[in-house]
Formats: sequence, C-alpha cells, structure tokens
Amino acid sequence: MKETLTWRQIIAQQWYLTKFCFKKAPGFMAYHLFECIKLQVSIFMEFTWAVNYVLTVVEQGGDFRKVLWCMGILMAAIAVSTVTFAIYKHYVFPRGKQTLYQALRMEIYEKAKEIDLSCYDDKDFYENFILATEETDRCLDRYLAFETSIIARSVGALSSIIYCAYINPAALLVMAVVVPLELLCVAQENKKRVAARLERLPHEQQREYGNRVFYLSDYAGELRLYPQMKDTCREDYAEENHKIEAVNKKYGKQLFAYGLFHDVLLSRIVKEGAVWSLLLYQMLVLRVLSGAQLVTSRSCIWRTSSNIEVIIDSLRTVAENSAYIYRIREFLQMKPTIVSENEKAVPEGSGSLSIDHVDFGYLPGRPVLKDVTFAVEPGQKIALVGYNGSGKTTLVKLLLRLYDPDAGKICYHGEDIKKYQVMSYRRSIGSVFQDFKLYAATLKENVLMDVEDGSRDENYNVEKALYDAHFTLENNRLFYQIETPLTTEFEKDGVNLSGGEAQKVAIARTLYRKQNLIIMDEPSSALDPLAEYRLNQELNEIAKDKTVIFISHRLSTVRDADCIYMMENGRIVESGTHEELLAEDGKYAAMWKIQAGLYSDVC
Ligand code: ADP
Repeated sequence: MKETLTWRQIIAQQWYLTKFCFKKAPGFMAYHLFECIKLQVSIFMEFTWAVNYVLTVVEQGGDFRKVLWCMGILMAAIAVSTVTFAIYKHYVFPRGKQTLYQALRMEIYEKAKEIDLSCYDDKDFYENFILATEETDRCLDRYLAFETSIIARSVGALSSIIYCAYINPAALLVMAVVVPLELLCVAQENKKRVAARLERLPHEQQREYGNRVFYLSDYAGELRLYPQMKDTCREDYAEENHKIEAVNKKYGKQLFAYGLFHDVLLSRIVKEGAVWSLLLYQMLVLRVLSGAQLVTSRSCIWRTSSNIEVIIDSLRTVAENSAYIYRIREFLQMKPTIVSENEKAVPEGSGSLSIDHVDFGYLPGRPVLKDVTFAVEPGQKIALVGYNGSGKTTLVKLLLRLYDPDAGKICYHGEDIKKYQVMSYRRSIGSVFQDFKLYAATLKENVLMDVEDGSRDENYNVEKALYDAHFTLENNRLFYQIETPLTTEFEKDGVNLSGGEAQKVAIARTLYRKQNLIIMDEPSSALDPLAEYRLNQELNEIAKDKTVIFISHRLSTVRDADCIYMMENGRIVESGTHEELLAEDGKYAAMWKIQAGLYSDVC
C-alpha cells in the first residue's frame, strides 16, 4: 500500500466514500449535511451579524425596539433549530451511522467470500484484509465527523470572510499569508502519522494474537496444562509493545516538532499578534475603524481562523483516512482468480472424476502435490491414505476448486472443472473437512447452512440427516431439539457439543444435501472406534449409489474401498484394493501392520 497519497488520490477516496454514503443512506446524508451547515450559519448570525447590528444601532443611537425585535426573531429561530438538531443527534445520526456501517461491512464480507483461499496465505493481502475489516467503522466515523464538517466549516469560514471583506478587507491579508504555511505543515505532519501507523500495524497484529490466546476458550485448557505458554505469550506481548513504543518514540519527536511549529508558533504567536496589531493600528492610529467594526472584524477573523483551523485539522484526518479508504478499496477491488471459464452448469447425476498429472504448491518452488493421476468412476468408493503432510487434504482442496492446480487438470463429468460455474460446482460436492466449523446458530441452521429448503419436510429432513449421522437428538441437554443454539456464548440454554458430536453435525450437513459426489476428510477422527465403525457402516449404506472419496488415517475404515491410493510426499506411491496392497507388501502393508489389532475387536 502507498504510505501517502497525492491530493488527487485523496480527493478520489473522498469522492468514493461520499458517493457510497449518499447511495446507501441518501436521506440521512442530506439531513447530516443540512445540520452541519445550519450550525455554522446560526453561529455566524448570532455571534457576528447580530453583534455588529446591535453595536451599530447603539453607536448611532438608533431605536431600541428594532434591536429587541431582531433579537427575538433570532432567538426563536435558534430555538427551533436546537429542536431539529436534538432530533438529528438522538434519532437520525445513530441510525444512519449503523446503516452505513452495515452497508460497508456487507461489501467487505461479500468480497471476503469471493476471493481466492490462496489470498489468506499471502501476508500483504492478510494485512489489507485485517485493516479493511478493522477500519471500516472508524473510517466512516472519521468521514462523518470530519469530512462532512469540512463542507460546513467552509460555509462558516466563507460567510465570515465575505462579511469581513465588507467591513474591513485589510484584516483578511493576515490570513492570506498564514494559511498556506499551515497547510504545508499539515501535509508533512500527516505523512508522518500514516507512516507511524503502518509501521505499528504488524506489531499490533502480533500483540492481538497474544491477546486472543488469553481470551479465546479454545486455548483455555491448554494454557492450564502448559502454563509456561502464558509466560511466552506475556513476553511476546511485552516485546511487541516495546516495538510499538519504539515506533511511537521515533515518530513522536517529529510530530511534536510539527505540532509546536503549527499550533504554537504559526497559529498563536504569528497570527494572533499580527491581527491585534493591525486592528489596534487601524482604530487608534489611522482612526478608520469604529468600536463596532473592531469587534465585528475581530469576530470575523476569529471565526474564519477557527473554521480554517478545524478544516486544516480535518484535512490531516482526511488525508490519513483516505489512506485507509484506499486500502479498503484495494481490498474491495481484488478479483478472484478462481473463476469459471464459461459458466457451464454441472450435469445432473453421477459423473466420472479424473485427476490428470496434477502438480500444486502453496508457495512458488515448494511443490506439495506432484504428478497426481487417478480416476474415479461413478458410484466408486475411493480412499486416500498416507501419513500426515503427504498432501491428502491439499488434493481435496483442489477437487473442491478452492485452489487450482499449477499443472495438469481435474475433470468432472468429462469436463475440466474450470469450465463449470464455481459455486454450482462446489455445491455439487458434499464435503466434510477435518477442520470443519460449527457456527453460533441453532443445530438446525448448522445442518442447513446456506440451503434454503423452506419445505414442510424441512425439520424432518434435518432430523433424518442427524439421525443418519448417528447424532442423538434424545440428548437431554438439547432443550429445544434441533432449534437448540450450539453455543453457550450468547444463549444460556445453548450447548457446547463434544468433538465427536460436532463431527456428526458436520456429516449431517453433507447427508442433508444428497449430492452425488461426497468427499470426507477424516470425517470420524473424533469418534471412538466403535462409534466410527458403526457410522461407517451407516455411511456405506447411505452412500451406496454415490461416488465417495474418503480420507482416513485409520486403515480399518478404508479397507472396503474399491481402490485405495497411498500418498507420500505429494505423490501416489501405491494403489489397489486392500487385499492387493497387502499382497504387494509395500508402504500400505507396513502401515496396516502398525495399526493392525487396534480395531480387531470391532472389525
Ligand atoms: P495431509 O492432509 O496429508 O496431512 P496436507 O495436504 O494438509 O497433508 O499438507 C500437505 C503439505 O502442505 C504439508 O507440508 C503442509 O504443511 C502444507 N500446507 C498445507 N496447507 C498449507 C498452506 N495453506 N500454506 C502452505 N503450506 C501448506
């Protein structure tokens, strides 16, 4: 990401967010701007125009009743305006802000869903992603607080400048000299601020990781078993904090110097000194200024200057905020590379699957799969076995088109899977991953996921899928049966499932969908051997007519497969039925011998 943006780019980011906000919440934005401008106009009327009017009438010995009338009308207008402001502040603003937060977050979530999984392996992307999600609300807050206020403050400054030009044009000269200097100073200061934030970011992320380890329940048990990890985390936290402090210190001195020059020397000493000298000289020496004009000129200059100060201050925020908007937009503009080549629909029914000389690596120059070739006929049961890290899960990710091969191709129904519409292809495969996730939702929602069934049989179908996955609904903790929330984090009647129970829910998801091709990556690793054996029997029955690719460490669960592929270091080193592989007496047979006996009681 660029550390600092040119003014052109800053304006482009502002224009983008302005268009976004007006598109998503036009009524709110119009009201917001109206209130900002109205405030400035009423301040000008009350503190500049009215003061000048009253003093002039007094100096010229005018009619006191005219003053009373004028003040009465002004006060009534201000009272009405205070009421509309209260409505805006307490009702319109909080709601409008939430609408915008939600709209921007939805765009980010949509993008997060669409981009390639490989992006998550890329550090730069990940930083952008974190920043985009973390900064959305703050970006909008800053936009609403400062960027729209620039428009209102410009109205305030302009009205004071015009009035001052009418009363005492010479006073404006002081501003013409000091303001460009101030702008220059702010531009430099802003560069430093963004650079500091970006330098702190990786350390803040590391620190946040340490923080998560302490508060996430996933780590709670481990931290008690390995208490020294607490110390390691604490040390890491302290180290990252130290690095953040070093960055703050490095930039702190420079920012302090800019602040001193701008806020003290330029704004206070030079500007204030010049204004008072000029006004007193005009009044006492030249005698061209009346008392009313002196007070009004001073008020105009003060208002112009304070408005310009706020604008300049906001410009700092605007420039910094634009850098974040730029990053969010960079993220939103990312294009997925895993796209369909011609949006074909996946044919109905079972089809053959072929993996043809596939090579793949997550990182360049580090191959994980090498020349993998095999074919699966419709209805066949295939098993992938091998030690940890041999590439089985990676192959499954390629089959699901979460990644594309570096070389070779994968065909389904005789067609390269790149030709199919990506989502419909993925949906045509039922998959259970070993690192599946349950969501903070009801049991039913965790089975349905993104399926919109809505039929009268929906509940029955969900219960049937759970039953087939051997999930016991009679469990007395499930107060609301399939409507029971699957977390105790938000609901006191929720339940936390055991690893085995959770795995059965994940399997039920797949069974619910009734796809013709099912891929199961260690689907029963959290089950005890007896439960696993029984579930496998059930799955064999349910998936009788389906094509199944099964990954398991436990060879007893794959012995009935039509063909077993043994993987090692990303290659298929042996293939055949259980009996053929035992007869071959190779790596599979060796693995089998090690595991033999473990399940003999149940097999
Ligand atoms: P298996 O399922 O056989 O245990 P995997 O397919 O999970 O093996 O992993 C194969 C290799 O790829 C391992 O060396 C693993 O460290 C590596 N790997 C897996 N996922 C990633 C990733 N996202 N980025 C980089 N390397 C990965």
